[in-house]
Amino acid sequence: MTNMDKNIGIYIHIPFCKGKCAYCNFYSLPGRDKQMPDYLEALVTHIKESESQLAEYYADTVYFGGGTPLCFGADRLVKVFDALKKYGRVLMNGEVTVEVNPESTTYEDLVKLRRAGFNRLSIGAQSANDDILKTIGRRHNFSQVTRTVKKARDAGFENISLDLIYGLPSQSMDDWSDTLRKILALKPEHLSCYGLKLEEGTPLYSYRNSIIMPDDDTQADMYLYTVDTLEQAGYRQYEISNFSKPGFESKHYLKYWQGKEYMGFGPAAHSYVGGRRYGYISDLNTYINNILNGGPVVDQYEDISRTEMASEYIMLGMRTTRGISPEEYKRISSYGFERGLELLESYRDEGWAVEENGRWRFTPAGFLLSNVLIGQLLDAQMKRRVELGTPWRKDEYATDYYYGIIDSQVDHAQLFNGI
Ligand code: SF4
Repeated sequence: MTNMDKNIGIYIHIPFCKGKCAYCNFYSLPGRDKQMPDYLEALVTHIKESESQLAEYYADTVYFGGGTPLCFGADRLVKVFDALKKYGRVLMNGEVTVEVNPESTTYEDLVKLRRAGFNRLSIGAQSANDDILKTIGRRHNFSQVTRTVKKARDAGFENISLDLIYGLPSQSMDDWSDTLRKILALKPEHLSCYGLKLEEGTPLYSYRNSIIMPDDDTQADMYLYTVDTLEQAGYRQYEISNFSKPGFESKHYLKYWQGKEYMGFGPAAHSYVGGRRYGYISDLNTYINNILNGGPVVDQYEDISRTEMASEYIMLGMRTTRGISPEEYKRISSYGFERGLELLESYRDEGWAVEENGRWRFTPAGFLLSNVLIGQLLDAQMKRRVELGTPWRKDEYATDYYYGIIDSQVDHAQLFNGI
């Protein structure tokens, strides 16, 4: 079987930011403007060198994330996208997303991006409360969010997502409800709502004892309120933290959660191709130097076994409202799902899971406990403990923190085919 008829998602990491937000643990670097020309050259070189690998696929999603991609400049983003179109096969009707921040987005840039073929924006709004935005080190206010959405519509973007965070310092339920109300008035097609996770090493973590944080119960209430409010406003929840108008689910995100293939470029970017997962070194200088001078850039690499695939099927599938089916699990793992099924039935009795047409998924109450429940499911099936993060909080991708034992190699595309 060749890969010629397969689709793939492309992720481009742009690690530049104007400043560092107080809660951020992404690989992002302020004050590196001088390295941007070299980084552009490195990215284009890397894409060109990947031509033969890219030629095996159609890219149906492209995602420019960061960092703050527009800090790199719209012209450079367009050049990188042009390189992808030149050395890869990007589908005309593909989903092409770029993350933008309200303080650094001009109408002119948006027009350039739209003309080049970018068709989806993910705007980092986070909150409608200017005081809270300041506390968490954001460099914009809510009126800039409103103006960015207007500029995006004027530039021709018909698919806009807004990122929000709840459980922020001194945030009350009323404040969160006010944020949701103001955000809904902007009529985005998609919303990502993450619970704040205090990450060690971030400024917010270091002064956590001197700020008032909503307690776990309040955060849980905020989550349940979000699910309910967005549903009433016509947004369908399709993943723990993601909601969209019908037909506007992020096709790129879905690749991560449905075990589909994706290829990343840039420092700290991850790929999952041909049953292998690998990540590039989280160091901009090394990435640029080694790409331009023929040195190594991969620093994590693993073949994903059939056993791991089965675990990931549970772990990723249960993040989504599509859920999992025992038949699909059996097809991937080649062994039974009896113990998992018993547990799911007990979750149903508790109101944490539902079964519909042979598929199991969590209820909102189940999503709140999903880190524990998924761990139990994996234990039951795999008889080994897997340490999960807190999936309903802001984790990048669940796949980042699960590594297991390698057994036989399998054709992943075939196993996941049709799921
Ligand atoms: S949260 Fe986003 S904008 Fe803020 S520092 Fe991190 S990557 Fe940059």
